[in-house]
Amino acid sequence: MSILAAASQVVAPEADGDAEAVAQLRHAFMAQRRAFAEDRYPSLAERRSRIEKLMGMMLANRERISAALSQDFGSHPTPASDLIEVLGVLGRARYVLDHLEEWMRPSPRETEASMMGTSQAYIQSQPKGVVGNIVPWNFPFDIAVGPMIEMLAAGDRVMVKPSEFTPASAALLREMVSATFDPTLVYVAVGGLDLARAFASLPFDHLLYTGSPNVGRQIMAAAAPNLTPVTLELGGKCPALLTPGTVTARNVEAVMGVKTIKNGQMCISVDYCLVPRGEVEQFVREARAFMDRAAPDYSKSDDCTGIISLRHLDRLSDLLSEARDRQSRIVALEPDGRVDRTTRRMPISLVIDPAPDLRLMTEEIFGPILPVIPYDEVDDAVALINAGERPLGVYVFSDDAAATDRILANTVSGGAAVNTCAIQGGLPSLAFGGVGMSGMGRHHGVEGFREFSNQRGVVVRGEGDHVDAFYVPYSTAAALVEAALASA
Ligand code: NAD
Repeated sequence: MSILAAASQVVAPEADGDAEAVAQLRHAFMAQRRAFAEDRYPSLAERRSRIEKLMGMMLANRERISAALSQDFGSHPTPASDLIEVLGVLGRARYVLDHLEEWMRPSPRETEASMMGTSQAYIQSQPKGVVGNIVPWNFPFDIAVGPMIEMLAAGDRVMVKPSEFTPASAALLREMVSATFDPTLVYVAVGGLDLARAFASLPFDHLLYTGSPNVGRQIMAAAAPNLTPVTLELGGKCPALLTPGTVTARNVEAVMGVKTIKNGQMCISVDYCLVPRGEVEQFVREARAFMDRAAPDYSKSDDCTGIISLRHLDRLSDLLSEARDRQSRIVALEPDGRVDRTTRRMPISLVIDPAPDLRLMTEEIFGPILPVIPYDEVDDAVALINAGERPLGVYVFSDDAAATDRILANTVSGGAAVNTCAIQGGLPSLAFGGVGMSGMGRHHGVEGFREFSNQRGVVVRGEGDHVDAFYVPYSTAAALVEAALASA
């Protein structure tokens, strides 16, 4: 598409406070397009240098990142900020730097000599162009900067739209990025919903969106007129299935520990836990023991991440109230834990055997509440998982490899983990993404590099081929068909 044609498709902003930001966004998009047209295939050295700059940017701003997260969340543990939002991104960058040369190399493909003679074929990974990234509030740096690594590795130019729920992180990201990169290479657009809508409507060469399935539908609809390819990283209800005999301290720690990451506000957190009916009390005891051991004053401590807004906090409190009103058994894991509306910290609760029509069983919970669902047969638990939408992650606890394989073979999810939870999202080598209602497309690792590249198939003609069989007159085709049928 020409630059002028692209400009004419940029959606006009609605008149509000975002008008100026939308005008800047449109200008930045056109500037990125022009810059890409002048530099369509950045060298390996150039891509590496961009990624190294990004790493330097994250390291130099480590403490400010932690402060911005604390401001946005009300409370956000510094070691978790460092580990996930800074070191996690650096690890991902290092992995890409180690492999980029190999990924950029043309990938040879077989040709059939009897038809193609000495012709050769290969896949060339080509930069797509200008790529957008719409970021949710829960990992404001990891999800903004992590995919940027693979986008820059692919040779693309990048535009990022942080969430309006994390204003401090968004402002810092914008400042860090503009101090590090020319806006024609990386640009951060900060604003409200009108800006978000205008962003999704830009004729990007690829658009990554991370957030809820409902907004995901709107993103796909906004991308459709431009036929912009989308990667949708959505949410859902990720189950943990503890098979009989696996309700041990180690396994319950793996489930409960993951709930303490961002206090459950993580797309691959355990949303509900399936436990053999006779082992539910054991699960409750182990969950209590874990919290007593690991964080006895969890909701009063700096280890507890605040819920992102009072609206989100009230939604979570309502989920618990509804369960209580319907006589569900609620187990508070912290004896005198309470919600603090100033820091928005909330203690973790189990809800034992909730009715299936409760909102906490029909919506993604995304917070410190864990339904524990008793089951009689493993097949019943698998059927329950399959009755819901396809989740982002399935977590299986079993010491029996054949039983594990059977559960994995009979469920469909974006990722999975065995005898642990959520770590599949933390490995830079492992493709990450959803399926069905939890999303489409992949980032992380080579799959991320390929997602943000155009995988161009190229043939280089040699000698002795029979491509003329496809042209008139069809005498060569007739001879080839006859020979093929005779040898079939
Ligand atoms: P959200 O959908 O409300 O917002 C995400 C982003 O979309 C924000 O930047 C927002 O400004 C933008 N946005 C909102 N409406 C828009 C519109 N109409 N047009 C264009 N952009 C729009 O999601 P959220 O509440 O910020 O995040 C929570 C959800 O994200 C959960 O469902 C969670 O599971 C999911 N999530 C998924 C992943 C993953 O990798 N799959 C990671 C984190 C979060």
